[in-house]
Amino acid sequence: MSDFKELKQVGNEAINPDDTDKLITETGVSFRDRVSNIDKKGNRIWIYPKKPKGDYTKWRSVVAVVLLVFMFVLPFIKVDGRPFVLLDIFQRKFIIFGIVFWPQDFYIFALAFLAFIVFVVLFTAVYGRIWCGWACPQTIFMEMVFRKIEYWIEGDYKQQMALSRSEWNANKIFKRGLKKTIFILLSFIISNLFLAYIIGIDELQKYMTEGPAEHMTSFVFVIFFAGSFYFIFSWFREQACTFICPYGRLQTVLLDKNSIVVAYDFKRGEPRMKFKKNMPEDAGDCVDCGACVRVCPTGIDIRNGTQLECINCTACIDACDEVMLKVNKPKNLIRYASELQITEGTKFKFTPRIMAYSVVLLLLSGLVAYLMLNRSDIEATILKVKGTMYQNTETGVANVYTATIINKTFKPMDFSLKLMDIPGTIQIIGKDHLHVPAEGLTDATFILELPRKYVTGTRNNIQIGVYSGDKLIQTVNTGFTGPAPGMK
Ligand code: SF4
Ligand code: SF4
Repeated sequence: MSDFKELKQVGNEAINPDDTDKLITETGVSFRDRVSNIDKKGNRIWIYPKKPKGDYTKWRSVVAVVLLVFMFVLPFIKVDGRPFVLLDIFQRKFIIFGIVFWPQDFYIFALAFLAFIVFVVLFTAVYGRIWCGWACPQTIFMEMVFRKIEYWIEGDYKQQMALSRSEWNANKIFKRGLKKTIFILLSFIISNLFLAYIIGIDELQKYMTEGPAEHMTSFVFVIFFAGSFYFIFSWFREQACTFICPYGRLQTVLLDKNSIVVAYDFKRGEPRMKFKKNMPEDAGDCVDCGACVRVCPTGIDIRNGTQLECINCTACIDACDEVMLKVNKPKNLIRYASELQITEGTKFKFTPRIMAYSVVLLLLSGLVAYLMLNRSDIEATILKVKGTMYQNTETGVANVYTATIINKTFKPMDFSLKLMDIPGTIQIIGKDHLHVPAEGLTDATFILELPRKYVTGTRNNIQIGVYSGDKLIQTVNTGFTGPAPGMK
């Protein structure tokens, strides 16, 4: 019970609204008056959350390990010598699960992104910020990596507070030095991982073996992002979620009374009362111990209801469950529940809004799947050379064109161009066929000559077939200019 006694003492601490160095949850000032980690003068209050433990923390740790392994291993996975995932924003080339997307496929990407946004909206409307607590990289790195290292080096929240208040001595220099060194190293590793997703693991290895002088852009990138990660995880911390993250702000419009969030069952918990031997009959189950507040990484009191700062990390569920066991009450005073489930005891309902989101999501996903399945591996663009006129030849009329052929496959290919439906000749300048390297493109200029009798006006529509061997790969429609009827 020592833990509980200690929490009671914390709960009994003086409540002075003028206290400026305490979390708002500890001062008696309304939580609506100011953000939990900002004092009356606008200065930041450093949050020292108590180390959480319990079933949810265990499961979140398992999920975090799986996701971290996935995140670190993914850039190393290759299929047929190609990265399984590559997000090369510089060359605008993306490989998602082995499928190459080129700038020409951008519309599929844009639609997939739109479908993803709808998915996030739908998911948030139903399950609240489950993403923030369980899968967001910010939470995973902050709470499951950096924070755990901090607990390991500096101890739990009380030791951390004591260390922070203590004079600079050998112990403090050692602990702070060790922590910062590990944080810097980790930030550097994460930054390199981030770069591996953009340039690929082979390029990253090259950059590492050849040294920064040869790859100044990559080096600057790594240093900039390592610095940013260090700043966020070492100092900025929960403020990334409470002040910066747009998803957190969106919560206000996405959540409704049916959304499942981490919630305090105020019907069961109120009136809250300090724990004593003979509790009055009308006392609620909340013993006002403050354990849920003490573990909160954003410093809020979930008993005030759903708040923007809550990242649904579940630490308060575990903390309260432990207290409930100690005071012999059922668990789940804080739990995953919707507002309606708590106020009216209703079950989860499919609201018209959720149904509408689901229909839009299904349609968008279907469209993306259709476009993906029907996406062509070869893309040819044929355009008449700008500013050129037709030329009369001995046997007909000629126009000059440029052709660009993109090969999205992983093997080189040869192509030829043939007129469809009408006779005529195509002469590629400087070569007899078009060779396109794997994942590359080829440009060529060619002269197309039509017999005069097929040129019936100033503007004629023609079709050119792009062949690989005898196989027609694509048909391109284009225009052919000629003399006006009656002219030569
Ligand atoms: S209120 Fe609970 S779930 Fe929300 S951030 Fe704080 S500890 Fe996590
Ligand atoms: S909700 Fe639970 S953890 Fe929070 S103060 Fe009440 S009893 Fe303590």
